[in-house]
Amino acid sequence: MSTKRYTVLLIPEGSHTVRRFGLKRSWLHLAAGVAVLLVVGVSLLAYDYWRLGFDRGELARLQVENRTQHNELQRLTASLEGLRQELVVLAQNDAKVRVMAKLSKPKADAVAGVGGPPEEDVAGEFSAMQRQIDEIMQAIDLRRESQEEIQGFLNDERSLFGAKPLGKPTNGWITSGFGMRKSPFSGRRKMHEGLDIASRTGTPIYATADGIVSRSETAAGYGKLVVIDHGYGYKTYFGHNSKNLVKVGQRVRRGDKIAEVGNTGSSTGSHVHYEVRRNGVPLNPWKYL
Ligand SMILES: [Zn+2]
Repeated sequence: MSTKRYTVLLIPEGSHTVRRFGLKRSWLHLAAGVAVLLVVGVSLLAYDYWRLGFDRGELARLQVENRTQHNELQRLTASLEGLRQELVVLAQNDAKVRVMAKLSKPKADAVAGVGGPPEEDVAGEFSAMQRQIDEIMQAIDLRRESQEEIQGFLNDERSLFGAKPLGKPTNGWITSGFGMRKSPFSGRRKMHEGLDIASRTGTPIYATADGIVSRSETAAGYGKLVVIDHGYGYKTYFGHNSKNLVKVGQRVRRGDKIAEVGNTGSSTGSHVHYEVRRNGVPLNPWKYL
């Protein structure tokens, strides 16, 4: 049987009176419940207080870290800006070289038009940085393309320079120029399509540009003839030779010995008949000496 009520007796020392309290069982339960709640509440408060202190330290640490990162970001942005400036200078130099090479302008330069207000928040700073990086990459790609084009152009220029006849094919006196003249054979006025350079038989004849021998034979009028194909439409002819020293298909460089001066074919004395043709049209070799 459970008891519903308790009786508490208080007997003060040295006294004869007894104090008596009646306690309901439910009151005791209530008191125990309140005590438990108090303990839990105080514990929670203490924990919160401890956490708060911890968080405050963490916050300070994060603030320092944030400031450091912000400074780092600004430094990075500044060096990106430096890179961009250098690319602008590169682009300007590139444009100058292209003008000199008479190449067309490259596609619109992204790098020249970067800018805008500074970003306030870190996310904005990051996206601005990403944008700058993208633009710099684009600009680098553009420069690379342009440089490759310039390189190709220079290679062409070099081979064109190598292909263009230059200088005299042999030592000697120019005895007859390019143009209309009275033929020494028929006496009629006739076009002389080359330059005659008189020299002793056996004097070396040199190629005046890089190329490939396209003829090495005896031809009507020319006698022993060497023709060199230089590409770009250029061909040079060397006639009346005493000896041809090259074969058809042979590759020659400017300055290579290709034949010796002679008096073969329709010739009135030992000389080289030198022609420069472009796309089959005889040009005045004077302009190429
Ligand atoms: Zn001639």
